[in-house]
Amino acid sequence: MIPFLDLKAPYLELKAELDEAIQRAVSSGWFIGGPEVDQFEADYAAYCEVDHAVGVANGLDALHLALRAMGVGAGDEVIVPSNTYIATWLAVVQCGATPVPVEPNEATYNIDPTLIEAAVTSDTKVILPVHLYGQPADLDPILEIARKHGLRVLEDGAQAHGALYKGKRLGGHGDAVAWSFYPGKNLGAMGDAGAVTTNDPDLADRIKVLRNYGSRVKYVNEEQGYNSRLDPIQAAILRVKLAYLDEWNNRRRMMATQYQKGLAESGLILPNVPDWADPVWHLYAVRHANREGFQKQLESQGVSTLIHYPIPPHLQGAFKDMGFKKGDFPIAERIHDEIISLPISPSLTAQEAEQVVRACLN
Ligand SMILES: *Cc1c(COP(=O)(O)O)cnc(C)c1O
Repeated sequence: MIPFLDLKAPYLELKAELDEAIQRAVSSGWFIGGPEVDQFEADYAAYCEVDHAVGVANGLDALHLALRAMGVGAGDEVIVPSNTYIATWLAVVQCGATPVPVEPNEATYNIDPTLIEAAVTSDTKVILPVHLYGQPADLDPILEIARKHGLRVLEDGAQAHGALYKGKRLGGHGDAVAWSFYPGKNLGAMGDAGAVTTNDPDLADRIKVLRNYGSRVKYVNEEQGYNSRLDPIQAAILRVKLAYLDEWNNRRRMMATQYQKGLAESGLILPNVPDWADPVWHLYAVRHANREGFQKQLESQGVSTLIHYPIPPHLQGAFKDMGFKKGDFPIAERIHDEIISLPISPSLTAQEAEQVVRACLN
C-alpha cells in the first residue's frame, strides 16, 4: 500500500539531528521563547528573504494575529478565495470581520485577480490570497488592486513554503505572509507551530505583542492580546528541517514532473502551472468527473488518496449564518466535487510514483 502521507518518514530520515535538537532545547531550560525561537525566526526570515519572521502557535493564529495587527475588526471586510481550506475564512471571523469570497481561476484553483475589484467595498481592509496546493497565487495584479484602493495584502502561505512567484520566494510580496508548520506541511513541526513573515517592522512588532498577552514588558498589558507562542522544542525541530526544505521540495518537484508526464494522456485534469509560478507541490491534485469511482480504482491497486477539500467553506455548517447556498460559488463547488489528491511527498520513491501512474491509467 502506498500511504498518502507517512509522517514518521521525515523523523526517521533526520532522526539523529532531530533527537539532538530536541535534547538541546529541553536541556536549555527555555520552555517559552528563548534562543531556539529567536534563531528559528532569524533563519526563516533569511530563508524567505524578509526582515522579520514572528513565530506563533499555529497557522490559524498566524492568519488571525496578522489580520488583527493590520487593524481588522468588527464591520470590516476581508476578500478571501471561495476555494480554500476553512482556516482562511475562520481567521477573518475571529477578528469579528466578514469574509467576502471571490471565485478561483479554474485552471490554477487560486483566487482570480480579475474578479477581485468587483468585490471591493468601502469596508474592505485586506485581500487574503491563498497559495493553494503549494502554487503561488497571481500576486502582482492583487498588489496593484490593493495599492489602488489602499488595502493591505495578507497571503496564506500554509501550503507553499519555498515556492517562488516570478523568481522570488514567497514571504515578502504582500504586507505579510501567514505560515503553518502543521506536521503534514512542506515544512512541518512535530506538533502545532506557525509564523508570520513581513518586511513591515510595525506589523512584526504588533504581532509580537499580540502573541504574548498584549504585553511587551512582563505584567504590563497595553492591549487585550492572546497566548499564541511558538514552542521552543518545535522551533529547534524546525531549524533542523528548514535546512532540508529545498531538497525535499525538489523531490516533490521530481515526483510532480513524473506525474505530469505519466498522466498527460490519462484524461484527468492535471495541475496547470503558469510560467511565472514555481510551485512546491504540497499537494498534487487532479480532477475526475467520477471522483468516487476513481478513488476506489486507486484504492484497489494499493494507492491511498485524499480529497482537498470535499466541502467549500461557504457550504460548511460553520458558516450557515452567512446564508450562502449551493450554486453561489459554482467554480469552487465544481472543483470541490471533482478534485482528488495523489500521494506526493519527499519520502516516496520514483518506483512508487510509477505505481501511482499505472494505477491511474488502469
Ligand atoms: C494548514 C492550513 C492552515 C492552518 O494551519 P494550522 O497550523 O493547522 O492552524 C491555514 N490555511 C491553509 C491553506 C492550510 O492548508
